[in-house]
Amino acid sequence: MISFDYVPVDDLRAASAAGAHAHTRFIAGGTTLVDLMRLGVERPTTVIDLNVLARKDASLTAVSDLPDGRLRLGALAHMSDVAWDRRVRDRYALVSEALLLAASGQVRNMATIGGNVLQRTRCPYFRDVTQACNKRVPGSGCGAIAGRNREQAILGTSEQCIATHPSDLAVALAALDAHVHVRGTSGERVIPFTRLHVVPDAHPDRETVLRPGDVITAIDLPSGIPARSTYLKVRDRASFAFALASAAVALDVSGGTIRAARVALGGVGTKPWRSPEAERALVGKAANDAAFHAAAEAALAEARPHRDNAFKVELAKRTLVRALTEVSA
Ligand SMILES: Cc1cc2nc3c(=O)[nH]c(=O)nc-3n(C[C@H](O)[C@H](O)[C@H](O)COP(=O)(O)OP(=O)(O)OC[C@H]3O[C@@H](n4cnc5c(N)ncnc54)[C@H](O)[C@@H]3O)c2cc1C
Ligand code: SF4
Repeated sequence: MISFDYVPVDDLRAASAAGAHAHTRFIAGGTTLVDLMRLGVERPTTVIDLNVLARKDASLTAVSDLPDGRLRLGALAHMSDVAWDRRVRDRYALVSEALLLAASGQVRNMATIGGNVLQRTRCPYFRDVTQACNKRVPGSGCGAIAGRNREQAILGTSEQCIATHPSDLAVALAALDAHVHVRGTSGERVIPFTRLHVVPDAHPDRETVLRPGDVITAIDLPSGIPARSTYLKVRDRASFAFALASAAVALDVSGGTIRAARVALGGVGTKPWRSPEAERALVGKAANDAAFHAAAEAALAEARPHRDNAFKVELAKRTLVRALTEVSA
């Protein structure tokens, strides 16, 4: 048995200060962290429980309207509560759909928004401590590059790591240009969602720009996004499976012409993959099959598949074309 200190906190400043120590992890719903601790992948010596804080400060679990039309999601709100919130369903369909297509009802009732975007990869070599993995043990090698890589990424990969980012919600948030509120040891700051995660390059163990002690407190959804949006997820099973390819899209079409477009891909990138290339290929064009296929070609132009996952290039293109077709219909 591996022992660790369990520290419930009821104050954000204290949480940040305690979280800044080495080998310390925050726990929210625990659906990722406990899993990884059982596997021996995560071995914190201190676990800081944010749930007492959540019960004390209602803003951390609330969905709140902001005066300028934005919608704020408390980082400790449960995935299911956010998914079924009427404002989220009406104004940000892609967020609600991404949440409802993730995991299972039981997991969504426990898991939180903040924990979801910070979940670790499902790469089987990362989750098996007997295998080489640069993300888990820097410098140990990558079992997936020469091994089984069917589920791995084709965009944003490096010679050190090709692991896919697993979150569905994060793909929708990348498409929306959401913003992340963080409380750290030196105060509060706001990070554009598309800059929260980083590609692996030479340091796959570094997954975000967060610093030790940073607590995500909220995520803001912007106002004025295209009214029609969707999240389309393609996977091996119809439920309880991670995406092989997914697309979060929002389109503003008037008079048959695309005035604004938001596109992000999931299941194919080492981080939630926003595609400005696809957006440029869409804006100003007639909303038709030719434009959607051109956008898909642009989005996957830089794809670098490995032995088992070349199928993902075509799958991602078709997923994006279908999402665009559905949302423009
Ligand atoms: C069987 C199964 C299937 C799943 N399928 C899917 C799926 O299809 N799609 C999908 O998107 N997800 C899926 N998931 C992942 C699931 O959505 C995540 O485990 C969950 O969202 C994590 O949230 P949590 O609150 O439980 O996080 P925790 O496990 O508590 O924490 C996760 C990580 O985030 C950190 N953390 C948590 N909250 C904060 C915070 N506020 N500030 C700073 N750090 C924080 C923790 O330290 C930890 O490193 C699945 C999970 C399981 C177990
Ligand atoms: S792909 Fe990344 S997470 Fe998977 S084994 Fe290689 S280094 Fe580890």
